[in-house]
Amino acid sequence: MVKASDRLEYVHSDIRGPLYQEALRMESEGTIVLKLNTGNPARFGFALPNSVRQALALHIDDAVAYCDVRGMKDARDVICTYHIGRGLQGIMPNDVFICNGVSEAASMAINALIGNGDEILLPSPCYSLWSNNTYLSGGTPVFYRCDPDNHWNPDIEDIKNKIGTRTKAILIINPNNPTGAVYSHDVLVALTDIAREHHLVVLADEIYDRLVMDSLRHESIAALASDLPCITFNGLSKSHVICGFRCGWMVFSGPKGELDEIKNGVMKLAAMRLCGNALAQLAIPSALADSESTREMLVPGGRLHEQRKATCEGLDKIEGASYVENKAAFYLFPSLEKEQFDFVDAQDFAMKFLHEYHVLVIPGNGFDWTEDLRFRIVMLPEPAVLSKAMNDLQYFLNHHRILKKY
Ligand code: PLP
Repeated sequence: MVKASDRLEYVHSDIRGPLYQEALRMESEGTIVLKLNTGNPARFGFALPNSVRQALALHIDDAVAYCDVRGMKDARDVICTYHIGRGLQGIMPNDVFICNGVSEAASMAINALIGNGDEILLPSPCYSLWSNNTYLSGGTPVFYRCDPDNHWNPDIEDIKNKIGTRTKAILIINPNNPTGAVYSHDVLVALTDIAREHHLVVLADEIYDRLVMDSLRHESIAALASDLPCITFNGLSKSHVICGFRCGWMVFSGPKGELDEIKNGVMKLAAMRLCGNALAQLAIPSALADSESTREMLVPGGRLHEQRKATCEGLDKIEGASYVENKAAFYLFPSLEKEQFDFVDAQDFAMKFLHEYHVLVIPGNGFDWTEDLRFRIVMLPEPAVLSKAMNDLQYFLNHHRILKKY
């Protein structure tokens, strides 16, 4: 048998991994599975915003040819203006690279920045896109802890303890997947202080910045650190429910010239794939001008707001389950008190829940979190469906509860 590259050894994409394959197998045998594994709103009836539909209809002919390697100029202008509005200083349209999703932007940035033996600080729990790209680049992810007892903010002391001579960058995912946390101003400032002291490049995955609830305000970390080399990632997959279009970007900011080598590296990688999906780029100006279609999902009565409510109310009834309410996006990362149940670990819990109640959730280890028994729920189905899923979870857990011996 031909051996695969060693670099794949630690790569894991559990959201579409063995549990998901098992769910597909069950479906092929006629079982209906509620798949709460991917953050893919259109799968749950979220409609394409009219702003996007109209832009595509009007301009489709403009997307027939390969476009600029960095992305269409009009779209980069608008992205640049958007991030200036979010407080980034000194950026120009040429600091923007439009890619086939944040996924591709992350791959290019990590491959341009991280080489053999370089370390990058990544959050735990982590969206595995970032750790996987680090493994592929030959680098080493060093996980810092985010603290459920502090609204899932990063643990600053833990970060300080994990910095070594090879640490080159720190990734901040804010708002976060899988916790749905929005980091506090003080924590963001503390993170910039660490980056400044240790000369770290700041990578900021802010794809959920428009999906914040409860009148909270999201702060772009690059806006707090105009003196630091930063790469900020964002895209339309979630805010405009167009995951399938593959539309994301990255913006380089900070002291002039400091990231030029990395930018040139990204340019080489971008040129290898000729250009990003031009059709999706046509939607960027109208989408970024349309904040209303996103906002209406988040306010009371809006789907994301009501779906969170249904899920949390369901979880509140379950003894031995706890959670930190998400403040953004549509993820919850609840925990179970391990000693109350007969599960070996989170993987065992998730597989049994899938087999017995036909609900697919992703265990904490899929997000490089092993501290306790946790799993991620994607709160994208309608409230009634989520209420039923939480009811099912309650029955399931009661069945697996270890009876107290007196
Ligand atoms: N970053 C985070 C934190 C995500 O949750 C996701 C997708 O779920 C991505 C990046 C990838 O997004 P895209 O569809 O733009 O590739």
